[in-house]
Amino acid sequence: MTTSSTTNAAGTPWQPLDCHAHTTLSDGSLAPAALVTAVRARGARPSIADHISRDVISAVRTVAEVDAYLTAIEALPVARGGEFCWHDALWRELPPHLIGRFTHRLGSLHAIHLPDGGLVHMFQRGFPAGLTVDAYMDAHVADLELSRGRCRWTSSRTPPSSP
Ligand SMILES: [Zn+2]
Repeated sequence: MTTSSTTNAAGTPWQPLDCHAHTTLSDGSLAPAALVTAVRARGARPSIADHISRDVISAVRTVAEVDAYLTAIEALPVARGGEFCWHDALWRELPPHLIGRFTHRLGSLHAIHLPDGGLVHMFQRGFPAGLTVDAYMDAHVADLELSRGRCRWTSSRTPPSSP
């Protein structure tokens, strides 16, 4: 067994945390318990952060599925994460009692909305016909600004002020 734990300047033991791992609960290749074993064998602390989106094949796709997903990973000694798509509203629809069960949530920019309602996915090959780079960038900025306006602030922190 190898280990990557070390000590920091204060002499406190430190062990890396793998905060973004997918399992068979979405598109990963290891079952959750096998992932825990594999990550620990490499000297890191495991977490599970599967895809939670209606726009990813094999993802956790509904509020009820998020509840079941959290129940499954709460049975394991892992940090409980999820990777959400910014462009899919599921992350905004989760009730506070489910949000509080996550240790961390990841937001990934997997697609942007176009003014005509279409999507451009980050991993698709090429732009839709007629979409210029400038039009894409305009749509990208507009989509981020729209997402920011729809964001619900669920903690006691206040949202950042506008620049
Ligand atoms: Zn991921």
